[in-house]
Amino acid sequence: MNAPMPDPDCLFCKIVAGDIPAEIVHASEHSVAFRDLNPQAPTHVLVVPKDHYANAAEVAHWAPTMAADLITTARDVAEKEGLETGYRLVFNTGADAGQTVFHVHLHLLGGRNLQWPPG
Ligand code: 5GP
Ligand code: ZN
Repeated sequence: MNAPMPDPDCLFCKIVAGDIPAEIVHASEHSVAFRDLNPQAPTHVLVVPKDHYANAAEVAHWAPTMAADLITTARDVAEKEGLETGYRLVFNTGADAGQTVFHVHLHLLGGRNLQWPPG
């Protein structure tokens, strides 16, 4: 498994650094949550670690506490957004799963009835 490497061209590193604007809904010492530019549900927030890891397995391997932090942060945002009847958390991993940004991000989706199976 690759050790985490900062990527100067990474879109989400630029959002974390404040070089690209985003609607931030939550920030802590180690993570940032911001609204997805192309929302797929009334609430669609991305939770990312400030440090660069390519995907969920990499952050879980190199920084397991950080992986847990992403999930508890998503829960806090879900509470703030009033999603008490349910929400969905998704890590797309790899191109076939639709991952387009290779800085791990946890999708928090809610505010409508979410179908299963996903597309
Ligand atoms: P993925 O497809 O990698 O799982 O998710 C990437 C997500 O990032 C997509 O849902 C896409 O809409 C979102 N996204 C792409 N570019 C930007 C951007 O510049 N700002 C924000 N806020 N979201 C973005
Ligand atoms: Zn990055």
